[in-house]
Amino acid sequence: MSRKFQPLSVIYHENYDIPVPKIHSFVGSKFSDLFAYLQKKYASSLNVLTPSLPNLENLEQIHHLDYINKIQQNKLTKDYLRLINLPWSNRLRERSFLEIEGTLLTAKHAIKNKIACHVGGGTHHAHFSYGYGFCIFNDLAYTAVNLIEENLVKNVLVLDLDVHQGDGTIDICQNYPSIYTCSVHSKDSFPFDKKKGWMDIGLPAEISDFEYLKTIEQTLRTIKEKITPDIVLYDAGVDIYANDKLGNFKISLEGIHKRDHIVLDHFLNRNIPIATVIGGGYSKNIDELAKRHSIIFENAIQLSKSIY
Ligand SMILES: [Zn+2]
Repeated sequence: MSRKFQPLSVIYHENYDIPVPKIHSFVGSKFSDLFAYLQKKYASSLNVLTPSLPNLENLEQIHHLDYINKIQQNKLTKDYLRLINLPWSNRLRERSFLEIEGTLLTAKHAIKNKIACHVGGGTHHAHFSYGYGFCIFNDLAYTAVNLIEENLVKNVLVLDLDVHQGDGTIDICQNYPSIYTCSVHSKDSFPFDKKKGWMDIGLPAEISDFEYLKTIEQTLRTIKEKITPDIVLYDAGVDIYANDKLGNFKISLEGIHKRDHIVLDHFLNRNIPIATVIGGGYSKNIDELAKRHSIIFENAIQLSKSIY
């Protein structure tokens, strides 16, 4: 019997990049850099989809209306902007709306096809009434809440393996008993005021591949004993990498490959859809950064070929 090849659903918008000065830790071109890299290497394996602007009523489920209005009207004060730590621009405003819808679209395609990947997302520091740490709106909370509100799923697991804890996601999602947040992060880095989610594992700085991957495997086993989510939203942050500018782990590129393979393989074997977002990754070398973020896509392409 011949297998029908199903290209991987990849969600991207050409307006995701933001203008950021070169000295800033955040690489403003990383979305188009990654997308260009994926197109060059895997074009025939991708089904590219574009998000539209979100329904504001949906956004009000997870962010305070005053905060949304301030963003829409370019009225964030210096105090708000200092917490976000990105230069304000019309593009930043526009892409913040597009990106949350991008993660929701990714999740909807994951429900259909078992797996889908967003060339963006992972804005996990955004809180209910303010943005924080490069994050304006919280795409993971937005997606989890709206999937439930639209009756597409009953429960959601947000698996956050960025080196930084997704404090905003935990804060917003704690009001929803059917959203489970699991974070494996550095206990000694931003945000220093750690939140208490459903499952939190703080690891020491300088951790290397062996201990880290052992922890990920154990965490997946523990999750399996406790819940069967209808979908997983996976923040595949690559700031766990040894040379990341803002991370403090010592994980190799091979270690990131193994982590993403272990996570995708685990949930696909359990027949649970998984939607991935890129999360954090910081480097002045834009080619290397694009390659690092492409690891999750490479694993998804490879594994999605075995689904059909
Ligand atoms: Zn991070």
